[in-house]
Amino acid sequence: MQRLAKLIYPAQCLTCDEMIEAERGLCPKCWSDTPFIVDHPCDCCGRPLVGDAEEGDLCDDCRSHPKAWDRGRAVMLYGGNARSMVLRFKHGDRTDLAHPMGSWLADAAEPLIKSDTVVAPVPLHWFRLFRRRYNQSALLGHRVAKLHRLDYIPGLLKRPSATRKLDGMTAEQRRDTVAGTIRINSVHVERIKGRPVLLIDDVLTTGATLGECAQACRKAGAASVNVAVLARVDRET
Ligand SMILES: [Zn+2]
Ligand SMILES: [Zn+2]
Repeated sequence: MQRLAKLIYPAQCLTCDEMIEAERGLCPKCWSDTPFIVDHPCDCCGRPLVGDAEEGDLCDDCRSHPKAWDRGRAVMLYGGNARSMVLRFKHGDRTDLAHPMGSWLADAAEPLIKSDTVVAPVPLHWFRLFRRRYNQSALLGHRVAKLHRLDYIPGLLKRPSATRKLDGMTAEQRRDTVAGTIRINSVHVERIKGRPVLLIDDVLTTGATLGECAQACRKAGAASVNVAVLARVDRET
């Protein structure tokens, strides 16, 4: 029956009008136009490395400014096609994009996952959640956890106070703005003690927010903290 439904209703490419058969999400042209990160990315922030990179190498920025988490992966660079998809997912009520994009993220995150990994999204403050109606990172996290059969705790972290939008701020301003704004939800503390945590977010810019989340998990006793994001902004941070 599902097969039949697919024949009758072929899927539409996520970014153009092209009809596609597979569950890949994009037509071949849009796929090749999307800046997916392949080969060996920085093992911590996920950006593509130039030159002869090997598995586990770090970019210059992560070597000189160690991040608060252990390892990280990103599906694509934040630009062009990738940027417009992320923005539609985030602000355009396109929750359906969580399905294909969450699958891409699950693939990208695979090297970071152990059988006892706990998946948790970066939280939104309730007011922003109320306005946007959904937390795009939570939708992605749900999909990643489902595909890898991992424990998923959408409410592991919370943001008791609203922070200003970080757009346009320097790395230092971002760090100062989010410092101390993210907490572990005490009812879930026992579930992450001694276990690896995988944090999920849509976009990694300077990593200020993910850094706060990682610190909160560590303080609560997580064995390790890795991060997986849909898109990595590739500029010096
Ligand atoms: Zn297309
Ligand atoms: Zn890096």
